[in-house]
Amino acid sequence: MIRVGINGYGTIGRRVARAVSLQDDMIVTGIVKTKPDYVSMVASKDFKIFVPDKSYEKAFQDAGIKVEGTVENLIDDSEIIVDATPEGQGEKNKELYVKRQIKAIFEGGEEPEIAQASFNAYSNFEEARSKDYVRVVSCNTTALARTLHPLRERFGIKFVDATIVRRATDPNDSKKGPINAVEPSLSIPSHHAPDLKTVMGGLNVSTIAIKAPTTLMHVHAVRVDLEKDASKNDVIEAWGSYRRIMEVGKNSGITSTGQMMDLAREFGRDRSDLYEIAVWSQSVSVQGNRVSYIQAVHQESDVVPENVDAIRSMFDIADRDRSISMTDGKLKIEKRVF
Ligand code: NAD
Repeated sequence: MIRVGINGYGTIGRRVARAVSLQDDMIVTGIVKTKPDYVSMVASKDFKIFVPDKSYEKAFQDAGIKVEGTVENLIDDSEIIVDATPEGQGEKNKELYVKRQIKAIFEGGEEPEIAQASFNAYSNFEEARSKDYVRVVSCNTTALARTLHPLRERFGIKFVDATIVRRATDPNDSKKGPINAVEPSLSIPSHHAPDLKTVMGGLNVSTIAIKAPTTLMHVHAVRVDLEKDASKNDVIEAWGSYRRIMEVGKNSGITSTGQMMDLAREFGRDRSDLYEIAVWSQSVSVQGNRVSYIQAVHQESDVVPENVDAIRSMFDIADRDRSISMTDGKLKIEKRVF
């Protein structure tokens, strides 16, 4: 059993904690929280609570929540830390991990240089093998790697041009916007293109990012020039054996992210998450070697299975396909076509 500590229990941290606790080969040693809020109140029933340092303890005591110790104590009781603190905090925390000689996973808000390897389960599982510091790439980069990897394997890729319509913020966040504007990122390529190359080395890619006033999902419009001609069926077939890609067809009646997340609720999974990248099969259009498609990305959860697989790769306890199967089995990710 690999002993996993979770530092930062927000959107990503709480989902990774749950996913790890479902696996047969790893357990959660505890989580680090900064405030005794509703999330701490619920989490304290399932996980041991730790705090960044002793100055945080009193607020928890006042709220009647038991604190087991500081992040240092959690590190001492763990073999790896998943750092899901806000963007930039992971870099500060790394000093502590190095000093106490513990492995750590960082998330996509950190710079690639924080880790020895960036990670996506489909495209570069082996690069994290036996490493001490690994970064799971962002939700958008994970989604692009998921659907592009099978196309690169099967047909080769000359060039990718992706437009990313980003959700403004997560559903629990009422501070950020925009709430009535569309905000394009004015640098092209956006930061997603170089990020994608960290897990798909040598890919020729450009990205455009536009923020939209929604919290549910991102939507990507992707154009790919393949190295050889293909048919629409060939492309859909290439995705066919990958469980973390879900094809959504015309008969499903799903034409928006609102319905896509409603479908996820129908699955009845933890937090109504949609770990799979949903491709609208109707949108897949192929002309010669040029493929276009549109996909929807549940930003709160698509990186969760990747965090679990990164742990197995870093401890060298499973190969890619075995790890993915184990993770998917426990998270109830099965090949779904609608
Ligand atoms: P979040 O703000 O939802 O959660 C971060 C949590 O860490 C909060 O509970 C916060 O209180 C806590 N925290 C703050 N300082 C801390 C400290 N010093 N020690 C311990 N905990 C501390 O953030 P998030 O959205 O979960 O993002 C975490 C990381 O995951 C970032 O790198 C982000 O870029 C990345 N990521 C986010 C998403 C997403 O859509 N939310 C998707 C993929 C990757």
